[in-house]
Amino acid sequence: MITGLIIDGCERAGASGRTTPLINPATGEVFCETAAASAADVETAVAGAQRAFEQGWRDLAPGKRAEALLRLAALIRENAEEIARLDMQNVGKPITDARAEAALGARIFEYYAGAIARLCGETIPVAGGGFDFTLRQPVGVAVLIAPWNFPFPIACWKAAPALAAGNCAVLKPASLSPLSALRLGALASEAGIPPGVLQVLPGPGGEIGDALVTHPLTRKVSFTGSTAIGRRIMELAARGLKRISLELGGKSPNIVFADADLQKAASSSPMSVFGNAGQDCCARSRIFVERPVYGRFVEKFIEAARGLVVGDPEREQTRIGPLVSAAQRESVEEFLLNDHRVLGGERVGGRGFYLRPATIPGCDTTDKVWREEVFGPVACIRPFDTEEAMLREVNDSPYGLSGSIWTNDLKRALRVARRVESGVLSVNSHSSVHVEAPFGGCKQSGLGRDLGMSALEGYTELKNVFIAEE
Ligand code: NAD
Ligand code: MN
Repeated sequence: MITGLIIDGCERAGASGRTTPLINPATGEVFCETAAASAADVETAVAGAQRAFEQGWRDLAPGKRAEALLRLAALIRENAEEIARLDMQNVGKPITDARAEAALGARIFEYYAGAIARLCGETIPVAGGGFDFTLRQPVGVAVLIAPWNFPFPIACWKAAPALAAGNCAVLKPASLSPLSALRLGALASEAGIPPGVLQVLPGPGGEIGDALVTHPLTRKVSFTGSTAIGRRIMELAARGLKRISLELGGKSPNIVFADADLQKAASSSPMSVFGNAGQDCCARSRIFVERPVYGRFVEKFIEAARGLVVGDPEREQTRIGPLVSAAQRESVEEFLLNDHRVLGGERVGGRGFYLRPATIPGCDTTDKVWREEVFGPVACIRPFDTEEAMLREVNDSPYGLSGSIWTNDLKRALRVARRVESGVLSVNSHSSVHVEAPFGGCKQSGLGRDLGMSALEGYTELKNVFIAEE
């Protein structure tokens, strides 16, 4: 297990000597301690990243960068089981999910290794003649700040495009979940990626986050986390006019029309809100059901939710593990307090931070639990009568991240997909994340996009070069 900082290709203790204890959410017990970085380590890491940038990574032939990323992808595959178990222990992720996420990390590096060759410029016929073309150049040192809910894949989907475009990066995993990101940093060295290209600094967000965002040598900040911290990062980044991309909170809709395949919608909807114990920015936590099928949908949904195995993340059949921390479970429980409509939502297990999925039928649009991001296994359901009224309620939210529409009417699917205010949307499916496609939100869910070619472009500066021919 890597428990030190990864700076310039080596594992080391933090300058302050401070450490952070990590608690296994399945047992509630401390299982290891990791070094906590401080402002002094930020200084060393950023300087090292800038050096690595100037001394070669930015000028390395694209094919060589691609080869390095492919070597890293191969190492992730070789070590996938170990990576999966790190996230399982660290955040309570069910082992089958953790395995899928480790494999996803490898696929992301493979995709961006290939994407390097598609990072093209243009030739432009400027009016006065001469030869005009554009270059996509790396920005320099990128700061990558990740949350704890999907520690490994989010670290990968920030690091891969950043490095692919020729940048160096300082990755800050969430203080609760540093282990798989540290492993990624160590594997990058093993893959022959030069020292300093990918630095990994676990530690308290407030202290080192500010130092990273305001450092004069950092040129881009890619952040995934809460809306409150995202706003603060935008304010801090404004001082240095840094490029930013912010992937923030959500309160996504799941819209079920009467003509949908009700069995499929009802059996797949529970995991689209309870998956990852509801700690998913894309959780479809506001469920809108067309009146004629409301009763039947609620019945089937509750039955499917009851069938989800809550328990030890190490067991293959477990669908829902513990919440990440005692504090997270308490903050979820506050939403359920004194609400007689709640079905489920009880604590289970003598130890660990388990909570059964909770369903609240008949929610009102003014309920706190309907309006705010819970970030736990809580589903709110509400009937609707007309498309217009439903869309007004759907868009009456500060967030705009994700969502699903269930219908067999193609025209309606297209019409509603255009009207829902969100960055991503799926029809007859709850998958929001595709490595090849842009992912992100609008309104208070953020700005900029991760994944796909959009993310790669977001780590570049577009330069125009004109060559006189006369
Ligand atoms: P968080 O905002 O508390 O923390 C995210 C990261 O920011 C952590 O690494 C944290 O240490 C760091 N941080 C804290 N203070 C900072 C500061 N002042 N400057 C810089 N960095 C700082 O979020 P969380 O609790 O880890 O994750 C849950 C939130 O993340 C939810 O709101 C969820 O919706 C959101 N999220 C969004 C997406 C998305 O893609 N839109 C994906 C996953 C999670
Ligand atoms: Mn938090």
